[in-house]
Amino acid sequence: MQPLVDNHGRRLNYLRLAVTDRCNLRCRYCMPAEGITSGRRDEVLTWEELRRLCRIFVELGIEKIRITGGEPFVRKGLLPFLLELSQLPGCPEIDITTNGTLLADHLDALKRIGVSRLNISLDTLNADTFYTIARRRDFEKILQAINKADTLGFKIKINVVVMAGINDHEISDFISLTRDRKWTVRFIEPMPFDGVGGRYKSLLSGDDILTRLMRQFYIVPVSNGKSAVATLFQVPGFQGRIGIIYGYSRRFCGACSRLRLSTRGELLTCLYGSPVLDMGALLRAGKSDGSVKRAISGAVGKRLSDGFEAERAFNKTTFHSMATIGG
Ligand code: SAM
Ligand code: SF4
Repeated sequence: MQPLVDNHGRRLNYLRLAVTDRCNLRCRYCMPAEGITSGRRDEVLTWEELRRLCRIFVELGIEKIRITGGEPFVRKGLLPFLLELSQLPGCPEIDITTNGTLLADHLDALKRIGVSRLNISLDTLNADTFYTIARRRDFEKILQAINKADTLGFKIKINVVVMAGINDHEISDFISLTRDRKWTVRFIEPMPFDGVGGRYKSLLSGDDILTRLMRQFYIVPVSNGKSAVATLFQVPGFQGRIGIIYGYSRRFCGACSRLRLSTRGELLTCLYGSPVLDMGALLRAGKSDGSVKRAISGAVGKRLSDGFEAERAFNKTTFHSMATIGG
């Protein structure tokens, strides 16, 4: 089987796997205070089904699997699953995106399994603002987990969704974090996946964020991988880096190398698009590996050119939360 290349010549080598849509936080830009309606338990792909799909994707040339959600650590059985992934022939890089609340106790095990990169979401450095955004009081726990992960040598990226009037005054504090730490702090434009059919009201574009950065610090561009979503900068002399993710402006579609699998096994070839394949149905209908692979290649061969085209084509019937897509 050939590696996955879409109809626009983009190689797909990166899979984002939402292992649960459940979460112990309620971030305003992601879901309403009451949370979202989770998938029925019998709809959610089992660990065994996920393991089979990951093997198939790795055989199709996927080199990196990011575990996301919802909050991945709220699903029981995550660690044994990660261990199995790490033992797949052609072992992919395994990365995790987490809100950090349950991370601290798992760090040693993650290290043993070979996970070395963690993306941790932290939108503020202030406990009260954290409560305003996430509607829970886990701020200290997250800070402790980040510091422990740092001490243990994990490569850390901090994801910050920037909202005007809420946390935008902290941009310079976040940049200061990169002075002595090798972390990459990435500022993210809010996207329209808040679970209630909107986009968080207090908007700041990536360019607005960049203007603020440049007013406060002298920054220089840093080169990034070809298909990376973040535009990277550094303050000369600082150890860490700063990124801007133009998630709403969609500046990175031309080099997008990502596939996404929702908790229910829907395959997405674009964050903004509708699901293109029901992989759970294929597995549960007893399809062979070969026919699952052909179905994936077929879907990839009809990929839309960018997130704007995908959004226009999406006949929305539900309000999406990022917790179902995995970010
Ligand atoms: N619960 C984990 C976490 O928060 O890191 C993993 C899942 S979360 C959906 C993945 C990423 O999506 C997080 O960095 C989060 O900040 C980001 N995210 C969620 N909703 C978003 C939105 N509406 N716009 C931009 N980013 C969003
Ligand atoms: Fe949970 Fe992550 Fe969504 Fe926040 S962004 S509510 S932590 S899934």
